Parts: sequence; C-alpha cells; structure tokens
Amino acid sequence: MLALDIQHVRMKQHATDKAQALQCLVDILVEDQLVTPDYIHGLTGREQQSATYLGQGIAIPHGTPQSRQCILKTGIRLAHFPEGVVWDGENKIYLAVVIAAKSDEHLQVLQILTRALINDVADQVKQAQSAEQIIALLQAQPASLALHENLIATQVPALDVEDLIWQATQLLKQQKMVECGFLSGLNLNSMIHLGEGVWSITSNQHVLSPAVSLVKAEQVLSHQQEMLKTLVCIASNEQLDMQRFQRLMDILFDTEQVHTLNQEQDSHQLAQLIGAELIPDWPSRRIVLANAHGLHARPATHLVNMTKKFAGDILVAVDEGAYVSAKSLTKLLAMGCRRGQTLTFIAQPDTDAEAGLEQIIDAVQQGLGEEVEAVDLVSHQHSISDPVVNTLELMPFESHGDTGSCGIAASTGLAFGPAHVVKPREFSYERRGQSFKAENEKLEIALHQVKNSLRQFIAHTESTAIKQIFMAHLEMLDDPDLLQSVQRGLKQGLSAAAAWHDHIEVAATAQAALSDRLLAERAADLRDIGERVLAALCGVADVTEPEQPYILIMHDVGPSDVARLNKDRVAGILTAVGGASAHSAIVARALAIPAVVGAGVAVLNIENHATVLINGDSGEYVVSPEQSQIDHAIAERQRQRELREQAEQHCLEPAITLDQHQVEIAANIGKVGATIQAVADGAEAIGLLRTELVFMSHSSAPDEATQEADYRVVLDALAGRPLVVRTLDVGGDKPLPYLPIEKEENPFLGLRGIRLTLRKPELLRQQLVALLKAADNRPLRIMFPMIGRVEEWRAAKAILDEVRIQHPCENLQVGIMIEVPAAALLAPILAQEVDFFSIGTNDLTQYTLAIDRGHPLLSAEADGLHPSILLLIDQTVRAAHQHGKWVGICGELAADPKAVPVLIGLGVDELSMSSTSIPLVKAQIRGLNYINCQQVAQQALSCDSASAVRSLVE
Ligand code: PEP
Ligand code: MG
Repeated sequence: MLALDIQHVRMKQHATDKAQALQCLVDILVEDQLVTPDYIHGLTGREQQSATYLGQGIAIPHGTPQSRQCILKTGIRLAHFPEGVVWDGENKIYLAVVIAAKSDEHLQVLQILTRALINDVADQVKQAQSAEQIIALLQAQPASLALHENLIATQVPALDVEDLIWQATQLLKQQKMVECGFLSGLNLNSMIHLGEGVWSITSNQHVLSPAVSLVKAEQVLSHQQEMLKTLVCIASNEQLDMQRFQRLMDILFDTEQVHTLNQEQDSHQLAQLIGAELIPDWPSRRIVLANAHGLHARPATHLVNMTKKFAGDILVAVDEGAYVSAKSLTKLLAMGCRRGQTLTFIAQPDTDAEAGLEQIIDAVQQGLGEEVEAVDLVSHQHSISDPVVNTLELMPFESHGDTGSCGIAASTGLAFGPAHVVKPREFSYERRGQSFKAENEKLEIALHQVKNSLRQFIAHTESTAIKQIFMAHLEMLDDPDLLQSVQRGLKQGLSAAAAWHDHIEVAATAQAALSDRLLAERAADLRDIGERVLAALCGVADVTEPEQPYILIMHDVGPSDVARLNKDRVAGILTAVGGASAHSAIVARALAIPAVVGAGVAVLNIENHATVLINGDSGEYVVSPEQSQIDHAIAERQRQRELREQAEQHCLEPAITLDQHQVEIAANIGKVGATIQAVADGAEAIGLLRTELVFMSHSSAPDEATQEADYRVVLDALAGRPLVVRTLDVGGDKPLPYLPIEKEENPFLGLRGIRLTLRKPELLRQQLVALLKAADNRPLRIMFPMIGRVEEWRAAKAILDEVRIQHPCENLQVGIMIEVPAAALLAPILAQEVDFFSIGTNDLTQYTLAIDRGHPLLSAEADGLHPSILLLIDQTVRAAHQHGKWVGICGELAADPKAVPVLIGLGVDELSMSSTSIPLVKAQIRGLNYINCQQVAQQALSCDSASAVRSLVE
C-alpha cells in the first residue's frame, strides 16, 4: 500500500535528457535504500517497452517484472524537474513519480494520480515551488457531477417511497458513485417537493463521487399527502460541480420543464431534458478484459495509441458504467477496469473509428501488449445474461474467481497435468451364492488380500495422517461384528459379494446419517474399504494411472485412492463433492498435493487426458488452459517457493511494519510436541493451545497429573515465551469419545465449549489446577471458549479464582475467546473484566453469517473478511484498547494474506496461526505500513461484501 508523502518529494532536480533523469531517480531510490543500483536497467527496460508518460507533465517510471529482484523495499519517490525533461518525443515532464514495487502496489498510486489528472494541472505541476504544493495538486479531486442515462430509470415498479428511494440508490451504487451506508443517510423527512410530483432527496454520507440518479415510478405514489411521481436522488460531497448542479436545479424548478418531465416515459428523452450525458446510439462491441492486473498504464497506453489512429470518436464503458473517450489515457485509467469486467466500445458511425472497432476488440483480446489468460467466457456470460436458470440442480450461487469454475480450496498450491477421471466402478456378481463354505472362503481370501495391501501402504507411507487412516481401515476389517453380519448373509444363501455389499451399504448409510459431521464423514471410509473388498471379490482390477503426473478427478476421493496411486505422480486432486475437512482433503494436505474439492459433478465429464490446471488456494480450476496460463502457474509456483525460502531465513526476527509498528506472531497448536517446531518456525508465543485436541491424543480422559505433564512440555519448550491455553472446547464438530454428549439437533448451537464445562465444573476445575501447577509462574494466559454471555465468563472466572487460592500463579492473565457475535457486541462490558480477548474468526464467521463452517456447498462463502465480521472485530479491539487490554486473532483468518493488513489496521495486537504460515506472514508484515493498514481497514469497514474487501486490499 503506497501513499503520496511530502517527505518523499525531491524538488529542484536537473536532467538534460531522459537517461539522466532516470539515473537521477535511481540515485534517489538507492539513497533511500529502496533499490540496488541495478534498478536502472529495469527503468530503462520499461521505457523501451513503452514510455511511462502519464499526461499533464507527469511520468511514472517503474521497473520491469524482472527487475523486482533489485527492490529492497516497496516505495515511491517524486522528483520535480523545473526545467522539464523530454520524455517520449513529443511530451515533456516536470514531475516523475518513480515507483519501486515488489508486486502491483503501484496501481493504487496510478489511481490517485489519474483522478487528479482529470483536472488541468500541467501548468501548476510545472510551476510548483514546494513539496506540499505537489502533493496537494496530486491529491486534489476534480469537481464533478455524474449525470448520465445509466443513472435514469423509468417505469420503476415501487410499492412506496422507501422502495423508490432504494431503487434510486441502487442506480448510484451500480455506477459506484456511492457505497454501502448511503441509503441509511437519506432522511425521508427532509425530502423536498420540487413541484408537480417531482421530489428530491440528498445525502453526503458514503458518497464516492457526486452524482444524481432519477427514477420515475410506474404508479403514482404519495408522500406527506402530496403526489410523488419522480424522485431525484442527489449524492453530494465537496467535489460537487456546482455549476452543473445549478443548471440541473434550474431545470427541475422550471414548472414547464417539470411538466414535460412528467410526460416523458423513456430514459433517453428524460436524459436529454435534464442535460444528462446520453448513451450514443452508435455501433458497439463488447469484450471481457483478460489482463491479469486490469487496464493499467501499459495496456491502457497501448489502447490509446491504437484508438488515436482512427478518425472519429471511440468511447468505452466498463460494465454498465459511464462512457469515456478511449483516446484519453487518464480517463481509461480512472475507470479502474479489472480482469473479468466487460468493456463496451462504441464508435462514431460512418467514420474510420467504426471500421476500427473490430481491430480494437482483437487487440483487447490479445492482451494489449501483455500476455493474457483468457477469461472463461461461457461462465462469465452466463452470469451476465442468464437471469433465471430453470433447473432443480443446485447451481453455484456465486462465482469465487475469474474463471467461474470453482470448488472449495482444500490443499494449497498450483498443479496441472492430464486429467485422470476415475468414475465409480461397476461390479457385477450373482446375488445367490454356491454354499456357505465356498462363499466364506472367497470372503476370507478377499479380506486377506485387502488387508495385505493396506499393511503395505502403512509400511510405505511416510505420513502419520495416512498411516492412522489406514490403521483405522485395518481395524474396521478386523471388526468381528462386521464379519459376523456378513456371514449371516452368507447363511441366508447370499453370495460373498452380495452379502458384503449389502452390509457395508447399510452400515455406511447409518454412519452418514449421524449428526456429528466428523463421524458422518467416516461413512466415506466404510465405503472405501467396502469397495476395495468388493473389487477383490469380483476380480476387478485397480484403475491404471497415466504415465505423467496427473490431476486425479473423482466423485469423492477415498483416502486409499490417493495413497494407492503413486503419490509422486498425483499432481493434484479435483473432486465433485466433499468438504475441506473430508479425509481426502486431509490426506491431500498431508501429502502436500494441491486439491480442490466439492467442484460439482460436471468435473466427472472432463475428458480423460485433457489438461487441467487447479489452484488449491482459490479453489479455481481450468480445463485445457492456454500455454500462457500453464507458464504462469509454473512461474507462480517457483515464485511461491522462493518467497517461502526467503521468508524462512528471517522467521526468527520480529514482525515490525515499515513505520515501526510491531505485531506479536504466535502459533496455534493441538499437540504438545508441536511447540518446538512452532518456536523454530518463528512463533513468539503459543497463541492457542487447543486442549481438546491434547485430550483426544489420549484414549481415556487424562487425569490431573497427565494433563500437568502435557502442559509442562509446552511451557518448557516455550522457554519463557507466553502460552495462551484454551480450556476444553468439546462439542460441535469435536466430540470426545470418553465425554459423550447427548445427540443434538444442532451441535454447533448446543453444548459446546464453556457451556459444557460449566455443566461439568469438576472437569474444568481439574484442568485449571493442572495448568496452574504446570505454570511455575511462567507466562500463562488462560481463556474460555464459546463465551456468549457475561454470566458464563463470570462463572468460569469464579471457578478459576477459587482454584487460584490453593494454586497461586503470578504470571497469569485470564481472557475469553470472542467467537460468538454476542460476545463481540458485549466487548465494551467484557473488556472491563478480562485481561485479553482472542478472536476465533472461524466460529465468529460461522455464527455471524449462519454458515456451517464445514458445509460442503456453503463453507466457501463463509469468508472471515465479510464486513460484518470486521465490524465485530473493530468493536472488540476498540473496547479492549479503551481498557488497556490486548486482542489476538487465532482463527484461520490470521494467516490469510489479504486479511493481515486489515486486521493489523484494525489494531489487533497478536496474530496466531498454524506455525507453517508464520515465516510468510512475518515477511508480509515487514513490507506493510501501519498507517496505510489503518486507512484500508477503515475503508473495509464500509464495504458491502467480503469480495469488495478482498478487491480493496488487492
Ligand atoms: C475459531 O473458532 O476461530 C477457533 C480458533 O477455534 P476452533 O477453530 O478451534 O473452533
Ligand atoms: Mg472456535
């Protein structure tokens, strides 16, 4: 996140030509330790590709992607050349804004600049005398008033005034003139009757750019006992173009004009009447922009150079937005068109421009001088033009990415290769058997074969997670009940295959019906072993795998499917169904195989051997990707590897932003033995010890001494670093076999966390004693999970206070998890009593958005960056800080690169995550600026969706 800063302006620079100017700029960057001297090659290389002249006497020199290795720290510097420097033959510059950006941060600077450049500032730039003047010039917003045909709607069906106001607001929102919150700033009581049923309403809250929308109701409405036909909705702020506004008001106050306005029914005529810009009825062509970073300076310059060749006007609009000239670089840049958005070009009829439309579309399709990955047009157009899909099949409600083909990201990484589609196998067998003896023998042979091969998997696999799964499979096969039930079938005259299949189906169906999700998912394990034994009984061979590393595509991948196939050859996994917590996903993660699950049954129709590219971080997949997409994936994979290696080298250093704001980075663990690795990965504390997972590693309830010993292992390995322990969080999706809970309709809303332990106070007391005894006055922080009511916190705290009398502990803090919205909303009260808060965004998201966090279809929509959750975090942090308490985040969001700047900006003091994420998050924080994070966080709070927050951070 870059910002324009007075400290970064160098006045009175001199250069006789561009080469000298570029050297002067590199010297400035080197002096400020942003780049190495070699960056000059990047700057000159970029100028050779296309000059970086922006307009109004300003250039924005920046390096090529290859020169990013010369960048030590992202930053920008501004140099004023009062005598000017010839930049691209015809244009002279007076100000160079030189950018050293490790990624695409410079696009934000471009946006600020281009907005300013809509003003005529060339002379002021040239004559500027001080750094303050330059920054003021660049940050100045031009006066404006959007008033165009797309902001007008007639025949609007509205039930009442509020409905009509909502429609008027929608128009402003669609055109990105106002943001979320504008509607609530409109006061019905301050509407003005302009006469003849025309009313106006105004607000200056949440206005992005001044604009007026006009809506005409289909039916005449009434307001304050007066007629209401037309509503003029004014979004105003200090940039309002007063002259234009006055002209509009003159028309609206003119009785005759208003009379005509009431007659006209079509938005084009209305637009003409009120002096709004019209959408010309010119030949048009549409194209979806495919450039990865949108229409930024280079492709936009390419477009301008091309359109300028054609005589006649060429206008362009993004989606349904206002048209601007396609010959103006600043206007194109200010449109902020992103990849996947549609550009509509219109050209003046009977001119060169009309004939040039085709060429322009071709050029955009080719990437305007950049390599592009095509956007999946079919799914894209689908979302634009097919409003109703008449089918009973569940359709994806939202696209989660540009390509439209998306599932749930289940295991990180990019992978591509030939598709290996494994469809359910067909088994044919006789229902009736020969004799009990013969069938029983067949069954025993098949079981023996399968057990042998399982033992081989167990012996060969290096992953403990896989070993455990197959050991469980072996145990299932050894279960005497299972054998007896199948033998009962054999005694009734069934064949071994039929008896086996029937029994497994009944058992798996019963298992799948369990309300506990984790237990229900074990039905897949039963079917998995069921199918393997059936295959052995029917003599069906295992599926043969392709030669090259491939993408395994299946309905649902059973654990043995992954392990049985040569894992060096399974490049990635794509499944039709399944959630991120399914065993297939666990196996994939353990093997570090990128995986996308729950992508829909259509994936089974992918042709065998068609190349498939999957992205285990976004959940996207592409069938038959372009070579450029594959090249990009290879480069990206390499880039990720290098970033990780670099980050690991510095993982033990603190995470301090460029402007010296430190954030504590801690690890989440569920096994006491994981502490050593966490510290080696750079953890400065354990921010969450999930004690229910520690309990789960014991086959029966651990007594006080066992628990104390467990906690000592962690504290010893931490060597003085703080330990945040969560008391037992059993229930929901985490059952404890030796702590049975009655079957519940909604376990996530049931006896879970503190609700359970308060009802088993002895259990809580025992755990607290074990913790206090293990502490030995080392920094121990205890927190209670699932607190929703103040009474729960006070009751838990009272038990702890009682225990402390006998087991004093000097270095103790007591806090709560904020994972129930009620707790976040009550944070101002709770903050007076607790020592700290740790926000569990996994559950806070689940409970705020009312989406089961493991739901196979919906969990991808449960995004912790949803503004509703950010508002709760903001409220929690403010309340805590007001009372001098600290706040951590221990949900998955803490390691999400898009969330990190927002969370830091909201003032969170500690981020706790899986220890493998620590090096990268620390590295990311070191490149951030706290002040900028605060600005972004504030903007995020008023976004209308999680995706809007994500694009904001981008
Ligand atoms: C959370 O809810 O964010 C959290 C950290 O707890 P768990 O994931 O263990 O429920
Ligand atoms: Mg939780």
